[in-house]
Amino acid sequence: MLPSGPTLCHALVIGVDGVRFDLLGQDTTPSIWTFGQAGFLAPVTIDEATPTMSGPCWATIVTGAGVAGHGITSNDLTGHRLADHPDFVTVATRAGLSTLLAVSAWPPLALPEDGGPLFAEATRREFVARTERSLAGWDAADEAITRLATGILAQDGPRLSFVYLGAVDIAGHLTGAGAAYRDQARAADQRVGRLLDAVRSRPSYEQEGWTIVVVTDHGHLDQGGHGGREPEVVTAWAAAAGPGIDPRGPPLITRQDQVAPLVLAALGHPWR
Ligand SMILES: [Zn+2]
Repeated sequence: MLPSGPTLCHALVIGVDGVRFDLLGQDTTPSIWTFGQAGFLAPVTIDEATPTMSGPCWATIVTGAGVAGHGITSNDLTGHRLADHPDFVTVATRAGLSTLLAVSAWPPLALPEDGGPLFAEATRREFVARTERSLAGWDAADEAITRLATGILAQDGPRLSFVYLGAVDIAGHLTGAGAAYRDQARAADQRVGRLLDAVRSRPSYEQEGWTIVVVTDHGHLDQGGHGGREPEVVTAWAAAAGPGIDPRGPPLITRQDQVAPLVLAALGHPWR
């Protein structure tokens, strides 16, 4: 067991939008696959009350509240009740922990657009806008945020970081769940690998008690798109490893509202 406790523990959550569970494996996503073997990698079924859209799914993941709590039912966050159900980055920031929010290309997560931001407070907030509307523009934004976040993780090692990558979901929307989608998932997996390497390269890594979560929000139809209750859409997934996560035990996340409690508990912060 690594040392744990409020002064030593750290957490990194990597959110990769719209990655189908059946895409994961040693061939396409070796970084995520190997990471999951140190803890768990498990399917997460989106509950019946939650529209299978990015807004409500990410809101549930980062607040630990369901739709009935946070009030977000679409990608327009207007009318949300996040003041009563703050995200885990905000909770950690208010508790005095150093935090990083690093978001690629989708404004309402980080900016006051479309009723956002989902994340109210962070010690450091980084948003990379896409420079063009094409998939290449999203891919470039994912690359830029990865480069930025790896530097911050390696150098400063904030107590809690959330890094968001969005290009896989866009590939699904533009081309369906075919070759381009798979290629983009491979690119996202390599970026996840670089973020993991940045943390593990820290000289004090072994003493810092890192809990790491990699999570998606929903799947995609074969022809691309989501929003319904098809199995390939409602089957999201989460992987996590860190102190107290036994690779021989059952997965500690099988519902989206279990991510935030796990992350805050890992930081020694009481849940509600
Ligand atoms: Zn999404």
